[in-house]
Amino acid sequence: MEDCLSSRRNKKCCVPNCENKHSKRHRFPKSEPEIFEAWLRIIQPKGFEELTRETIYNRYYVCDVHFSNKWSLPGSKRGLVKDALPTLLIPGEICKLLLEINKINNLK
Ligand SMILES: [Zn+2]
Repeated sequence: MEDCLSSRRNKKCCVPNCENKHSKRHRFPKSEPEIFEAWLRIIQPKGFEELTRETIYNRYYVCDVHFSNKWSLPGSKRGLVKDALPTLLIPGEICKLLLEINKINNLK
């Protein structure tokens, strides 16, 4: 997988507020329309309503940090099961996560 990293590094993750530039990128699942729609519903990228699926697939990526380990499929081309959903570190989730961290810090 290392060989893919350099060419993927500059492709921005389309999750709002995600600044991750080094994780593996995943394209939208063009061959799975329902999953594709689910990704859009979860991520809610700005301005995507006007884009075709083809454009989204060609231009936009979601980085690896948004996928739970349960979706991983080692040895496959994408490294993910075909119905994988980006459920981690999504705006809203980010808030929840920060709250959790604060709670933990307060206990110390
Ligand atoms: Zn990301």
